[in-house]
Amino acid sequence: MANDPTSLVPDLPCIEFVELVTDFLEGALAPSRHEQVEGHLEICSGCRTVLAQWHEIIVLNGHLDEHDVDILDPVVRDALVAAFCRTYPGES
Ligand SMILES: [Zn+2]
Repeated sequence: MANDPTSLVPDLPCIEFVELVTDFLEGALAPSRHEQVEGHLEICSGCRTVLAQWHEIIVLNGHLDEHDVDILDPVVRDALVAAFCRTYPGES
């Protein structure tokens, strides 16, 4: 295996990562997509932070709700809220 992740998979825009993160954590992504996400995580510390915070919330609560989102830092929260609202439109 080469040691340079950017040569293995095309980079994923951060916004796409945020949209994929729940499926990623549930192992619901297609293998090629999963690989893309892992590749992005290796080169993007911001998304590693998002993943860690999201993972912690899911482990603690089994789900994400508005109160949980409030404890995230504002930049992460905005990105997650945007993705979450798109994923579950109209549900609360
Ligand atoms: Zn990123």
